[in-house]
Amino acid sequence: MRVITTIKEMKEFIREKKQQQVSIGFVPTMGYLHDGHIQLIRSARAENDIVVISIFVNPLQFGPDEDFDIYPRDLERDKKIAASEGVDVIFHPSTEEMYPGKLSVKVIVQERVNVLCGESRPGHFDGVATVLTKLFNIVEPDRVYMGMKDAQQVAVVEGLVADFNFPLELIPVDTVREEDGLAKSSRNVHLSEKERQQAPYLYKSLLEAKKLLMEGERDEKRIISHMKQFIEENTDGNIDYIEIYSFPGLEKMDKLEGKIIIALAVKFSKARLIDNIVITLS
Ligand code: AMP
Repeated sequence: MRVITTIKEMKEFIREKKQQQVSIGFVPTMGYLHDGHIQLIRSARAENDIVVISIFVNPLQFGPDEDFDIYPRDLERDKKIAASEGVDVIFHPSTEEMYPGKLSVKVIVQERVNVLCGESRPGHFDGVATVLTKLFNIVEPDRVYMGMKDAQQVAVVEGLVADFNFPLELIPVDTVREEDGLAKSSRNVHLSEKERQQAPYLYKSLLEAKKLLMEGERDEKRIISHMKQFIEENTDGNIDYIEIYSFPGLEKMDKLEGKIIIALAVKFSKARLIDNIVITLS
């Protein structure tokens, strides 16, 4: 496995591989790899000749009061995991390598962004779309693997790929969870012991909502207020949002039907956790 830190070397590697007509699977990450990332890597490994992952904590997608400085990083650990999963290349550029000066152009996301995390993290998805535009141009992947844990990111990137005609296929991968249901996340290390005990109630609240829907409940307000009460009774977290939209359009619905997403974000003392489920209603 190679670790490449410069764009020039990465492009040379890709040019050589393209000449050999091999397929390239790409998994963009911010590192501190866990089973969620590993699931994406395994999917990429199964479907491509070469697997490239990027490890880059992208400052552009963090707000001024967010956790960029304390975001967990451990390249040595990540290298061992990636090598054991058959990754061919880790692309690990510095911030200066990716952003040597002030950007003269950045990508602005206009749709699917005024809800959920887009609303509470202004500029976040512009940062994601900008770094992915750069990474797609550098890595030239045939297939890109992204987790449904960040379902809004999948919806936004679907738009980016379609609008900017990137010649790649975006492949969403189901959320990987701990045994107690908590969605795996690099940020879980920032939960206190007590918060870690409480955190599975986020997923449980989504299952509560699913149960209500399966029983025929279609009143969005009632479902959300049940979830809110459930989370407030079982955790000390502060609810940032609990919302229901169509998926992947992320539009408000007059009537709950078809493919919908129930998504939430809850702030604990040092970690803001997100989770969601996508359900198809008849
Ligand atoms: P991150 O390193 O948090 O930026 O995540 C990199 C990729 O891994 C994104 O596409 C995430 O959606 C995906 N991912 C993160 N956590 C999970 C999880 N628990 N299950 C599946 N995919 C995940």
